[in-house]
Parts: sequence; C-alpha cells; structure tokens
Amino acid sequence: MTKRTVYALVLSLLAAVASAQDYPIVPVPFTSVAINGGFWQSRLATNRTVTIPFDFRKCEETGRIANFAVAGGLAKGTFKGKRYDDSDVFKVVEGASYSLQTHYDPKLDHYLDSLITLFAAAQEPDGYLYTIRSILKDSANIKDDQAGPTRFSYVAGSHELYNVGHMYEAAVAHFQATGKRSFLNVALKNADYLMRTIGPDKLIVVPGHQEIEIGLVKLYRVTKDKRYLDFARFLLDMRGRADKRPLFPDPAKTGQGASYLQDHIPVTQQKTAVGHSVRAGYMYAAMSDIAAIQNDKAYMDALLAIWNDVVERKQYLTGGLGARGHGEAFGEAYELPNDVAYAETCAAVANMLWNHRMFLLTGDAKYMDVFERVLYNGFLAGVSLEGDSFFYVNPLASDGKRKFNVGQAATRAPWFGTSCCPTNVVRFLPSLPGYVYATKGNDVFINLFLTNQSTVSVNGKPVQIRQETNYPWDGKVSVTVQPKQPQAFTMQLRLPGWASGKPMPGYLYEYVNTTAKAPVLLVNGKSVSYETENGYARVSRTWRPGDRLEWTLDMPVREVKANEQVTDDRHKVAIERGPVVYCAEGVDNGGQALSLVVPAGTAFRPQMQPDKLGGILSLSAQEAGKNVTLIPYYAWSHRGPNEMSVWFGQVKPTK
Ligand SMILES: [Zn+2]
Repeated sequence: MTKRTVYALVLSLLAAVASAQDYPIVPVPFTSVAINGGFWQSRLATNRTVTIPFDFRKCEETGRIANFAVAGGLAKGTFKGKRYDDSDVFKVVEGASYSLQTHYDPKLDHYLDSLITLFAAAQEPDGYLYTIRSILKDSANIKDDQAGPTRFSYVAGSHELYNVGHMYEAAVAHFQATGKRSFLNVALKNADYLMRTIGPDKLIVVPGHQEIEIGLVKLYRVTKDKRYLDFARFLLDMRGRADKRPLFPDPAKTGQGASYLQDHIPVTQQKTAVGHSVRAGYMYAAMSDIAAIQNDKAYMDALLAIWNDVVERKQYLTGGLGARGHGEAFGEAYELPNDVAYAETCAAVANMLWNHRMFLLTGDAKYMDVFERVLYNGFLAGVSLEGDSFFYVNPLASDGKRKFNVGQAATRAPWFGTSCCPTNVVRFLPSLPGYVYATKGNDVFINLFLTNQSTVSVNGKPVQIRQETNYPWDGKVSVTVQPKQPQAFTMQLRLPGWASGKPMPGYLYEYVNTTAKAPVLLVNGKSVSYETENGYARVSRTWRPGDRLEWTLDMPVREVKANEQVTDDRHKVAIERGPVVYCAEGVDNGGQALSLVVPAGTAFRPQMQPDKLGGILSLSAQEAGKNVTLIPYYAWSHRGPNEMSVWFGQVKPTK
C-alpha cells in the first residue's frame, strides 16, 4: 500500500467512526448540566454524601468487597453472600464515578483505585471474573446450586454474565470520570474472554438475567470496536432459540419456565411484557440500543408492541412494573393489586432507562411522560429522604403490619440479602441531570423541569440554558437562553401528558371531574403561539442572549380513575397534582388510610409545608366532618410503619 492509500484508508475509517449510527437524538451529558437548586439538589447531595459511602460500607460489612480480595489471593477467607453480590460493588463504583465527574473528591478517587486493584486481582488469567467460583473452585464446594458446578454450566441462574454487565457499565463510567484505563482494561479483558468462549460455533448460551447487553453497547461506544456490539446482539438473538443451544436448551431449573427470563420465543417475536420485570426492562433497554445503532425494524416493532402492552395493561399509576412477588414478575393484563404489588425499585430504574431510549429513538414526549411518572413516584419512594434506607418493594397500599419489603419490614430497610435496589438508586441519581436535555440538529428538547444551569451544543455552538422552577410543586418554568451570538434554533418544550389531560399514555388511567387551563408560553414576557408536535411545544426563532421563555403548566388537584378492567381499582379514585401521585398515611389521618373515602369532586387545598418530610406540598380536605390529609407517595413511610393507600373508595364501604 502506498502512503497515500494508507492515508485515504485512515480518513475513511475516521469518517466511518464519525458517522457511526446511533440514536438520532443526542442526550446532553449530565456533566454539562449542573443542578443548582430546587427539588433535586438536596436529593443528589444526599446521594453523594450519604448513600454512596453508606452503600460502600455495607458492601464492606457484608463481605462483598472481601470476596474480591479472597478471590485474588490477597486475603484469606471464604466466599460470603450470594453469587450475584459482585454486581452490587460494581454498581456503587458506577455511581461513585458519576459523582466524581461533577464533584471531584480525591479520597473517593483513591478508594476506587483500591477497589479496582482488588477487581484486577480477582480476575482469572484468562479474563473470567466471578468471585464465588474463583474462591470455591469448580466443585461441590459451591453450595449455591444456582451458580452451576462449572463455568457457564447454568447461566440461566448463575448471574455470571449479569455481574460483568454491571462491571462494564461501571468501568466505562470510571474511565470517563477519571481518564484512567485501569478498570476499563479489566472489563475489556473479560469481554474479550467471553467472546472467545461464547458465540456462533462456540458455546451458545444466553444470560439468565439480562444486563451484559447494555454494558457491551457501552464498551462498543467507548472503544468503537464493533465486536462488542455484535456480541450484545448475538446474546439477544439467541434468546428463545433453544433449538440453537443443544447443551443448554431449557432454563426450567429456575422453576419458573422460559418466559420468566424472556427466553420463551425470539425477542423479535415478543409482543407482550412477561416474566421477571427487571430482566425484561434491561432487555428492552438493550434492544432499543440495537434498534437505534443498527436501524433494526424488527427490534423496533417488538419494542413498540411491548411498550403498548405495558402502558395499556401492566403499569401502576406510580410507574411501577411487576405486579407479582412470585417470580418478581409482570402479571396478566390489568392484574395490578395494590397491597401485594411488587413494583421493584430496580424495575423502576429499568423502566426509566428503557423509556429514555425510546424517546431518543422517536422524539416522542410520551416516553418522557412515563419516565417522569416513574421518577417522581415509583422510583423516588425507593430511597428515604435521609438516603440510608430503601424499598425493594413498592406497594400502593399497606396495612402497616405485613413486612412487604421482602420480609424485612413494613417500612424501608437499610440493606437486603439481595441488595440490587440500594445499589441501583445510588448509580441512577447522579446520572439524573443527563435526562434533562437532548438535541437533534437545530432542535433542543427540554424534557425535565428542574432548576439547573447547563451548556448545550446546538449545531456545534455552545448555548447556555438556565432553568428556574419550583417544580414539581409549581408548574411555572423559566428558561433563559444565552447563545454567544444571536442564533436560530428550535426549542422543544415537553408538554407533559398530565398537563394536556392524560395521566399516562394510553387508556389505563384517566382524569375525571377536573380540568386544567391550557399551558401558556411567554417569550420575553409576551404571549406567543406555538405548534405542538409529538408532545412538544415548538418555538423556532432567532434566540438572542438573555431571551427568556416562561412555560406555565396549570397544576390543579386531579382525580384519576383506572380502567374498569383493573378490578383492584374499581370504584376507586387516586389523587394527583402535576407529576406527583398522592397517598394517605395513617399517621396524618387518625391511624387510618385504607378505609378513607374520597367522594367525587372533593375539594383539596394544597399547602406548601417546607418543614414536613423534606419540604412537601400536602393536600387536605374536609370529608364527613373529618380532615383528610394527603402527602406525595414518594414521601411515605418516614414516620414508622403505618397504613397507607393511593386508591380511595368513593363511597363508605358497607360492612
Ligand atoms: Zn432490585
């Protein structure tokens, strides 16, 4: 090859990399968005100062970190805990890495270095990493029969591939935060080993718990090495293909059947949400990545069908997924019990990851409507205001006695034998600023309303955007735009479903007895008309430094009814205001919540209570001579176990 052809080849490779297809809409990274006030500032600060160190301490106390040292021969001891505990440590490292990017802390940086030394030591020479097996060896020593006697002998239950999926996500976050390759090298060595071992004409297996697929896509993005992407796709495509897996045809050993782990039919033929809801949610998120990067219509069609099934039939008003404790699974259509609801906190995180990706694929605001509903309700309830206790299970009703929180308590608990949820909260919260804005060419999307200062690149030019709002207590949002010079572009402000008459996309829930005023948009104090498209108000103009948008969303208290087919919500009403779902707690209502009656048209009075439950807007009303007080659902269970209900009867029950 001549010098010139080499040069041309390099150029064409660079061009290929530059134009590598991905989501058509690009999220503005969380590092460009500083949350500097409002509702979320204190929650993010608590995550950084309390939850991250708390989760690391728990990982130390429970032997999760020592397992790496023992596996690596750096300490004596035996394996402690469960086969999937490695993943918890990786998830806290992921959260800590995000935190480092926005709040550098040399002590934390060094602590992460020390953990990565342990991870590297625990990695076997060929790249395999799974501390339970490295410590106990391939033998009858492994009492946890779900781990399988030898490598990959029981991937349906071993979490061998799940664990490393979280490692890939954490390693990419650490590399991006610090520029150090130490952890990324461990991750790549592991992925390379897996690709030498598993694949077409090699061992054909699929992970029992999806997650590695999301991690592999992140490895692909950071390395631009397409093999990681192909491997993710291979693992997805082999689901439901027992015919291709003669050695491991059937995941029946889980006792749940193939649909439990979405392995019953090929992913492109799946049209309904079934099985374990966290596994499903991670799979749908990974499928969205493949649909975007490979422009795959079959994947997209499956995702659209499954999404419709979820929002029309299987989602709680809080955005929670997974009705059943048994199998931590989706129920049948309209099976949405309130007291025994499972709605795992991890499923809430998975639901947000998936819906954000669907927005990036389509530009439709309805996905961010679901995201917001999960965020302020089903997800946020998962962690206490103090940041050191958690819900694994998020019911919509409680008698205050049943230990619904995986048998531990009728309230939040500091930790669990399976602690996936505390470690999912800790990694999600610091990434929240990354869900606020997105761009596509000349368009800037504003998806979440929260106080922040950010820099958004519009057609390659930096534009500063400042949002100020008292959301979610007040629907007034002020947006100040600072381009360097006057610049023509389009602002797309999300017009939330709740502000245009729909609590959730689809027909599972609807507002009754109430109306809201139309949203009002002002530019520099003057009312402007706007067109709406895909759930966004579009404003195209030449923006000048200091131009100010004011977006006012009316926030009346609203009654919600569920589709008649949801038998558990029949003849009942729930109360919302803006994106926030309310509940009654016994402690505010003479010890009772489950028997409270809210007749149609009850007039609730909103009242800001800065000193109650971290600052909430409560709702109160007089009903049959008694005072009824409601609080945001996310804030419940901070005053001891007691009755709670989201849905209320409309007439007194006859005994
Ligand atoms: Zn969980």
